[in-house]
Amino acid sequence: MRATYHHLTLSAAIPRRLEADPDALMRAVEELHEARMLWLARAEAYAAQRRAEKRSGRRAAANPRPWWLRSWWDGPNSAWYDAPFRHPPLRLPEYVRRQNAMLDGADLPGCPACGDERPPVSNSTGHGWVELCRGCAWVLAPCPCGQRHRVVPETPFNWKGIWRRAHMSDDGTPNPHWPAV
Ligand SMILES: [Zn+2]
Ligand SMILES: [Zn+2]
Repeated sequence: MRATYHHLTLSAAIPRRLEADPDALMRAVEELHEARMLWLARAEAYAAQRRAEKRSGRRAAANPRPWWLRSWWDGPNSAWYDAPFRHPPLRLPEYVRRQNAMLDGADLPGCPACGDERPPVSNSTGHGWVELCRGCAWVLAPCPCGQRHRVVPETPFNWKGIWRRAHMSDDGTPNPHWPAV
């Protein structure tokens, strides 16, 4: 949710002061709506498929678990909670399309979330290593201990500041001084 908000402020160019461009909110709502429609269509198809499987006696859900049923807290995208500005640069509908394609068995190159093909960033957890996508901090390889570790953002930030769009300028471009304000 935090990462989605941060993403939308950038993709819809929502200025720090909304009065400077009230249409920005409509752009954000439209992007969210488009992504939601794609997701709902896929979730309905999945539900129908599961009903058919249960009728034919297959109780257990097939792997992989659909991306919208995974817990975001333990999931590989948990870094987006700790560092809400580390999210895929894709528009939300593109992100949903990519997740849906993988659920349908597509073998897409690069990071599952954003497609970044650069080598991952290794973060030490003190007793092991976590490999994160360089583009969006998706967990490509978890710590061997199996626990979730917080991602400490390299730039300290204040969530209230993001909420008030301190990271944006009034013309809808990113504030070059953020987060050092
Ligand atoms: Zn990524
Ligand atoms: Zn660990």
